[in-house]
Amino acid sequence: MAPRAAAAILSIGDELALGQTLDTNSRWIADRLFSLGVRAVEHATVSDDLGDIRDALGRLGERAGLVVCTGGLGPTADDLTRQALATLLGAALVEDGDAIEHLERWFAGRGGLPSINRVQALRPASGAALENPNGTAPGIRVRDERRGAEIFCLPGPPHEMRPMFERFVAPFAGTLADGVTRARLLMTFGLGESKLAEILDDLMDRDRGARGLPVVGTTASLGVVTCRIRATGPDADSATAALNNAEREVRERLEASNAGGIVFAARDVTQSGAGETKEALAQTVVEMLRDRGERFAVVESCTGGLVGGAVTAIAGSSDVFVGGWQTYSNDMKNAMVGVPDEVIAEHGAVSGVCARAMTRGALERLAASGIRADHALSVTGIAGPGGGSDDKPVGTVWIGCASRKPEGVISGEARRFVFKGGRGAIRSWSVNTALGLLRLRLAGTEMMLLGEQERELD
Ligand code: AMP
Ligand code: MG
Repeated sequence: MAPRAAAAILSIGDELALGQTLDTNSRWIADRLFSLGVRAVEHATVSDDLGDIRDALGRLGERAGLVVCTGGLGPTADDLTRQALATLLGAALVEDGDAIEHLERWFAGRGGLPSINRVQALRPASGAALENPNGTAPGIRVRDERRGAEIFCLPGPPHEMRPMFERFVAPFAGTLADGVTRARLLMTFGLGESKLAEILDDLMDRDRGARGLPVVGTTASLGVVTCRIRATGPDADSATAALNNAEREVRERLEASNAGGIVFAARDVTQSGAGETKEALAQTVVEMLRDRGERFAVVESCTGGLVGGAVTAIAGSSDVFVGGWQTYSNDMKNAMVGVPDEVIAEHGAVSGVCARAMTRGALERLAASGIRADHALSVTGIAGPGGGSDDKPVGTVWIGCASRKPEGVISGEARRFVFKGGRGAIRSWSVNTALGLLRLRLAGTEMMLLGEQERELD
């Protein structure tokens, strides 16, 4: 198979290199290139330094047939992209007639073209100026013959850069692509990333792309492990077919390891951007409940409403979510969902008995009020940094889930987890795990979840 068309992206600016401004351009450009069939092999960021910019342009030009760089095209002394380009190519800078006209028009109603801005019309003699309808800085397109790379320099502000990318870079990128690439995300919850990698085994070999086979990779975030599959073919149909085959193979491997139930969503990566979203798990739970015509409630202690927040972030969650309680204090656990004082005195608020009493109490109180709910989730734990003990270290979280059977009987369980990380991470893990637990129960899948230590059943 021919080598893949490759691009490299360079972001220029002190504010980016120093971490004061987030480089959003690279992500956007890489995502757009991907949907055009061109893979970004490197993102680089350099300061407003002429030598650094020149060196980076040269190095990236050696690597990739297309280099897209943003920033450093302003009129001030720290805007050095033009000079760096000229130095790299050993080319003279000439004033571009159209660019000067554009600048004169731009400044016509604003007191005329300041002399400092004339520098923005400069481009290497062999290059072309690219019109910028939304700002003063024209872009530059030039070929680096020595390295065989096409270089596009675009202004830094995203609202100027994006339309210029579409008009000038996208058509060129389209000519580079020698195939169509499709990508899909299989989102899983329940197993750790290393365990998943063990199951996928040779499907994750890094040389599969070079052998013309779909490439599989994983990324983990707060318990959600996403399996990314990427396939390339001569046309869209063959790329999609290869993708479907690879997905089937991944699922078969999981089934063979009794882990088929961990996949909760499959999404294609589309032109509108990365398919992965933080909401995927909540989205899945909402859809599953809607399909079953069921509703649920939450009783939250250490997450203080984050589970309800995650669910209500999903449009249409009102079909399945009745609401819940923030029972942060022991008083509220007792007063709102009837957790007996003795339970807290004997076992503590962070206990399986308490987590189970919370879900049972919630379902009973809702029923007593004539509110229909089929499931309840509870979370009670120690998010830290204080409050831990040898017995119950920071990160100890009990998550309860109870369901009402058709005959009206409530059956529940609680699982103890120990999550690692700071307060924010522990709370986020708790949210995902609570939703993940409900999803597993709805799917009828029995498995130990990541971080699970022990279990109590009603
Ligand atoms: P410049 O073209 O270097 O004058 O950049 C002007 C402004 O564009 C900067 O102050 C940033 O706010 C924004 N900008 C430049 N590069 C990026 C980037 N890679 N990502 C997001 N914003 C950027
Ligand atoms: Mg700048």
